[in-house]
Amino acid sequence: MTGRTVQGRVLEALISDEQRALIPEVSGNSINGLGETERRRPSPVYWHPPSQKHPYAALQTWMITKSSREVPVTADMNNTLGGRGSKARAEKAPAPARDTPENWSRRVKEIALSNEADLVGIAQTKKEWLFEGYDTPAPWIVVLGIEMTHEDLAKAPEPESMVEVMRAYNRGTRAARALADWILGQGYDAEPEGGPIAGKLPMIPAAIACGFGELGKHGSIINRRFGSSFRLACVLTDLPLRPDPEDAFGADEFCTNCRLCEQACPPDAIADHKQMVRGETKWYVDFDRCVPYFNETYGCGLCIAICPWSRPGVAPRLARKLTRRSK
Ligand code: SF4
Ligand code: SF4
Repeated sequence: MTGRTVQGRVLEALISDEQRALIPEVSGNSINGLGETERRRPSPVYWHPPSQKHPYAALQTWMITKSSREVPVTADMNNTLGGRGSKARAEKAPAPARDTPENWSRRVKEIALSNEADLVGIAQTKKEWLFEGYDTPAPWIVVLGIEMTHEDLAKAPEPESMVEVMRAYNRGTRAARALADWILGQGYDAEPEGGPIAGKLPMIPAAIACGFGELGKHGSIINRRFGSSFRLACVLTDLPLRPDPEDAFGADEFCTNCRLCEQACPPDAIADHKQMVRGETKWYVDFDRCVPYFNETYGCGLCIAICPWSRPGVAPRLARKLTRRSK
């Protein structure tokens, strides 16, 4: 009997009948384009507004309702997320202020870092990042990273971990809104997006483009300061900015030789090899295996918690060591 078969049975046993009744026929991996060799934009699948009527909307609503019932503190936190509390509040100034892209970029970073963000990066918006059916006139995206407390994260898959994740998303939403308000005050457009309910785009490709780090085997970014112990928010804007470079320091190769998240994942959702997804070969987490377990266990998060990069103080040391070795 293979490990995967055993894990498959474990997964079956873990899923409640209530959830099973809501799992749609269509595979989330198909929606995500697993195995597709042609490039295309992502399709809405999960953590997307249920009003968009994507096939997993009912399951997503069930997960949020269950979490709010079992961990009541997250009910209020949910109310500030997903566009409901993340809209900019400032009026756009009638005439745009003038400055150089370098100065605007510096000021944007100062504002973000003084408003709860721990990381800030800037990238040129690419249409290919947007979910199909969405558009934006904004040429720039400012991505924000919010550090999580590893002590709470390490309690995954218990409620404490989910509360810390929600706290980080709330901080990110507030930071994005504060930055958008400031940009509007300079006379430019700005649209804040807070996680986890994605707005127009999944934020990971933009975060990698603006230097947050590399995609890990567990499907999250590995950053040279925080490992995978952070969450994302962003602001789309037409304020003239300068892009930041990508930051590769050996995390991708490290993942090839590390199996910690693979072995820790109860439903065996993390593959030991990269896979073709919408024309790109990359690390990919099996949606159909992860999501049901994730839903039953307060957003799980075991893979991020166990990742060695996420432990306090480890990422900077490891990044320096790998960078030295590659020279
Ligand atoms: S646990 Fe290991 S394999 Fe998984 S993402 Fe972290 S470094 Fe990569
Ligand atoms: S969140 Fe949990 S179920 Fe999903 S990939 Fe990570 S460890 Fe596996």
